[in-house]
Amino acid sequence: MNGLMQDRPLLISHLIDFAERHNGSTEIVSRRVEGDIHRSTWAECAKRARRVAHALDAERLQRADRVATLAWNGYRHLELYYGVSGSGRVLHTLNPRLHLDQIAWIVNHAEDRILCFDLSFLPLVQAIHSRCSTVEKWVALCDVDRLPADSGIPNLVSYEDWIGGRSSTYEWPTFDENTASSLCYTSGTTGNPKGALYSHRSTVLHAYGSVQPDMMGLSARDSILPVVPMFHVNAWGLPYSAAMVGCKLVFPGPALDGKSVYELIEAEQVSFAAGVPTVWKMLLTHLQTGGLKFSTLERTVIGGAACPPAMLRAFEQQYGVRVLHGWGMTEMSPLGSVCSLKKQHAALPDEARWRVLEKQGRAVYGVEMKIVGGDGQALPWDGRSAGELLVRGPWIVRAYFKGEGGDPLVDGWFPTGDVATIDPDGYLQITDRSKDVIKSGGEWISSIDIENIAMAHPAVAMAACIGVKHPKWDERPVVVVVCKPGVEVSRDELLQFYAGKNVAKWQRPDDVVFLDAIPLGATGKMLKTRLREQLKDYRLADTSA
Ligand code: AMP
Repeated sequence: MNGLMQDRPLLISHLIDFAERHNGSTEIVSRRVEGDIHRSTWAECAKRARRVAHALDAERLQRADRVATLAWNGYRHLELYYGVSGSGRVLHTLNPRLHLDQIAWIVNHAEDRILCFDLSFLPLVQAIHSRCSTVEKWVALCDVDRLPADSGIPNLVSYEDWIGGRSSTYEWPTFDENTASSLCYTSGTTGNPKGALYSHRSTVLHAYGSVQPDMMGLSARDSILPVVPMFHVNAWGLPYSAAMVGCKLVFPGPALDGKSVYELIEAEQVSFAAGVPTVWKMLLTHLQTGGLKFSTLERTVIGGAACPPAMLRAFEQQYGVRVLHGWGMTEMSPLGSVCSLKKQHAALPDEARWRVLEKQGRAVYGVEMKIVGGDGQALPWDGRSAGELLVRGPWIVRAYFKGEGGDPLVDGWFPTGDVATIDPDGYLQITDRSKDVIKSGGEWISSIDIENIAMAHPAVAMAACIGVKHPKWDERPVVVVVCKPGVEVSRDELLQFYAGKNVAKWQRPDDVVFLDAIPLGATGKMLKTRLREQLKDYRLADTSA
């Protein structure tokens, strides 16, 4: 016997309808590529998204056809999020930080028919357009008078010209909630990039999950700043969850430096921000050098890479900002877990509380987790046993776009490639990527632990730990360090810094390599593959131990 509840599909168009009706006057503020600040509202966004839908109809785009974007976080990008998916097409967010060849490859693989781009990416589009055989129209996200004259790009229009003059009424189509809504390729360090193809259902469920109080805890009273790009897993779903709760949205555009982000936070009374650690590092440096404070920022989600404990403490102790350490993946839409405390933690002394908060947190309802050993058997949740983390749930991929890479699942579970422990309270701690874990004498050493300790040293700006070959132990950890400008620390001093910290003596690094920079990937994460390549001739001086 079925229940007798209405069978209404979960569709992205309902999110924007809801935001317009219930929070229509709530603001959407964007720093534009042009440099100025633009002010809009949810009602305005909804209206213009409907114009986008008309423009796509006029181009005779079919359901499921792909519309690509090469754009920063901003109001026009948001309108495309809703206009493209709402009308049944697939929004394909491209990462402009990838190599040109890779971008062209992805556009062709996705068979994008229209490509919308911010003017700052004009040179990039000029370099690749002739190789993008499926793209019929190029849309520059600008006013008509800013459209470059002799760009050499065929079928180029300005966005305002393209959607202007079209009706702002549109009946969003109703279809199966499992219909594809957006597409995001993983940056993939090996093999070709693979596309995670989200559905309306997965996107709406993910938004429901992520707004919960113990997750991102968003409400209509918030002013939120997604610094995480809209081309990086849909800015962690914030454009959708913001519409669901009707909060104010503040977009940083291309200006991700500490000063610009700080000014926007203060001017727009931002209460919640989200980004990767490398961006927050720039913000903290700006605050520290200028002796500045936040007047409205209450909490920030930090994820995409491990949040160094020193960063978590700086936010809380010096600026009164609560850090929510989150973990996820492109293949998971991306949210898997967020770290928030339980009632039993309330009375803990600071040190013990921080040790909990440094973890990647508890699973969001909707994501099941397990850790397995080398034999594939489930490991206990004792906070000590480390194994490969597998997940399943309604917003986790079951296959990649066009079947690329074969069937990724193992007995219905998605192997994350992360190594983790889970404690009896369900708190997840990522200790490594499985390919980054250091195996010394058959025992695992967490590169993240080694990096976090180095990052707590006042002279260290960035740290990466990699394993290097050792005749006796197979691999030993070496920490690669970039010092803050004008500050120095010696090799011995830094190695000494590990004494008394939360790592066993045999897990401490054998050496320190000082570099001017650590290579970063397209989403701001450290590229350890490149780093290993860079240090391939490096040998440990003393390999006798
Ligand atoms: P991406 O799909 O590019 O977002 O990368 C996902 C990967 O980033 C995960 O599988 C983890 O290896 C890493 N990651 C994301 N968040 C965290 C975190 N909070 N701590 C450690 N690693 C993380």
